[in-house]
Amino acid sequence: MKKNYIDGQYIEGATARENINPSDISEVVGLYSQADAAQARAAIDVAHSAAEGWAKSTPQQRFDVLDAIGTELLARKAELGELLSREEGKTLPEGIGETARAGQIFKFFAGEALRLKGDKLASVRPGVDVEVVREALGVIGIITPWNFPIAIPAWKIAPALCYGNAVVFKPADLVPGCGWALADIIARSGLPKGVFNLVMGRGSVVGEEILTNRKVRGVTFTGSVATGQHVAATCAGRLAKFQLEMGGKNPLVVLDDADLDSAVETAVQGAFFSTGQRCTASSRLIITEGIHDRFVAGVIKRLEGLKVDHALSDGVHIGPVVDDSQLAQDLEYIRVGQSEGAKLAFGGQLLERATKGFYLSPALFTETSNSMRINREEIFGPVASVIRVKGYEEALAVANDTEFGLSSGICTTSLKYATDFKRNAKAGMAMVNLPTAGVDYHVPFGGTKGSSFGSREQGSYAAEFFTTVKTSYTLA
Ligand code: NAD
Repeated sequence: MKKNYIDGQYIEGATARENINPSDISEVVGLYSQADAAQARAAIDVAHSAAEGWAKSTPQQRFDVLDAIGTELLARKAELGELLSREEGKTLPEGIGETARAGQIFKFFAGEALRLKGDKLASVRPGVDVEVVREALGVIGIITPWNFPIAIPAWKIAPALCYGNAVVFKPADLVPGCGWALADIIARSGLPKGVFNLVMGRGSVVGEEILTNRKVRGVTFTGSVATGQHVAATCAGRLAKFQLEMGGKNPLVVLDDADLDSAVETAVQGAFFSTGQRCTASSRLIITEGIHDRFVAGVIKRLEGLKVDHALSDGVHIGPVVDDSQLAQDLEYIRVGQSEGAKLAFGGQLLERATKGFYLSPALFTETSNSMRINREEIFGPVASVIRVKGYEEALAVANDTEFGLSSGICTTSLKYATDFKRNAKAGMAMVNLPTAGVDYHVPFGGTKGSSFGSREQGSYAAEFFTTVKTSYTLA
């Protein structure tokens, strides 16, 4: 059994939980300890005691630790990528790619540790010097979702440690395997004991302790809107800092002048790969009428050629849905779409494969309107809708008519429309001739409106959340 990691030791939890391979539900991937609230509290106490020492560590110490973690992740990307595919269901190339990305993120923040900087300014008063520096917050609580089980923990843990914080990390219930493997690498990285702690367990138990414990000075959360709102209310109630990354209903606009083949590929990649289980997935395909029919025909032809199967099988394009309750949610939205009058132009069927798993063929709705529930609510599965519009202005208005604002995209060969879209898309990320999902690891990631709250993650912008600013005055 894989145990929790607290104060440099592996400790059994109050109970244990199996994680199941969604490609083959007869396969138990592993058995993982589940902490109770008392064990979570103990981990927070340990982190609190270790925080001050790590805040005083040198940039070289931080670089060495983060670089060692990144090196091991990259060296073991094939093995860990396979573990990821087994517990989450994305295909092996996607699992390996995500693990490599986690390694690159640690390498990036290793470099950032050497570039910690502040400002020295002249005071408005004679003889006085002013210095502005960034300091660690203290204990950071990290709560992550199941859909990127190694990359999202990496992009929260790496900056937390880089800027001198101690960490209590709770992975999502469905995917403890990647969280545990990452913790095991961190345990061997030379980090002083107590600075990083892994506490697996339920959100309502371990997560709740992280949110309410006054020793946790910052909570960085990625997950659903409903949980995010609870995180916000609880942290605000005790004046702890928090950062939220939540859902999306991301638009991809395709204009008449787009390269058809490239637009079809961009839409299919963005909407359906990783089984559509990405917060940045293109779930609303907004297509101008001159290209609409050719685009729909092209997407259907491409979907017909996609292989949906066991995540580790050869040549597979789309793995299974993550579990039975997410599958039930996807099927319910497919039913809702049909009852709203949308045309199910492709897929949306349960599939039988050699192993019993949660297989769903990618579903494409056409003849939809932006007011339908399937275009307003996040489905979080391999389901996308086509919305027909007259021209660019209507496309932009529809793209922005949503509660969310994470990613957005346009396929066009017009510099004028591409430029206008980048200026006016109400989203944290805007893509031109690229899928809405798929981003670099060294630049900010995050959204606007209902998708995100607080400062951006990733890149050097991450410092904003993981530090607090001190201004010092000296009369020499
Ligand atoms: P979720 O909100 O159900 O769970 C997220 C995490 O919160 C899990 O670790 C869970 O155990 C924990 N949690 C649950 N209840 C809690 C509580 N009361 N207190 C503290 N923690 C609690 O989300 P999920 O189903 O794991 O993930 C899917 C969601 O994540 C989707 O909405 C998706 O859009 C979103 N997501 C967003 C981004 C982004 O960067 N914007 C990235 C990936 C996923």
